[in-house]
Amino acid sequence: MVDYKIGNSRQTKYCKALVESLTKMGHATNLELLQDLRQLYPNLSATTVHRATARLASRDQIGIAPANKRGSTRYDINSSQHDHFLCQACDRLVDIDIKDQLQPLLEQSLKGFSLSSRLTIAGRCHSCQLT
Ligand SMILES: [Zn+2]
Ligand SMILES: [Zn+2]
Repeated sequence: MVDYKIGNSRQTKYCKALVESLTKMGHATNLELLQDLRQLYPNLSATTVHRATARLASRDQIGIAPANKRGSTRYDINSSQHDHFLCQACDRLVDIDIKDQLQPLLEQSLKGFSLSSRLTIAGRCHSCQLT
């Protein structure tokens, strides 16, 4: 395995900036990350962002969250396994952890199936319920 820190300070810089940007947003697509990072690096290309997110995800430094309404992959600053609440009105994702409570119930009703995937529960968030 090649250590990306050696002889590739440009990529390291972008990976670091990308992680900072994703920390701020929680979940984001490549496009959202690009738009955010261009405030700092106006010449940043979409390809660089794609490469950086793919590299970080392959190393489990960032996770992959449920896609947005348009089907774009959303990256997740939380790289550990967790469940999501998805607001169907504004497409916002919120991290939740419900698998442990729900797993026995789901496996019981699926009669002998075992669950390996995490869950995404859809609904409306607080701010969308007010509108
Ligand atoms: Zn909402
Ligand atoms: Zn998440």
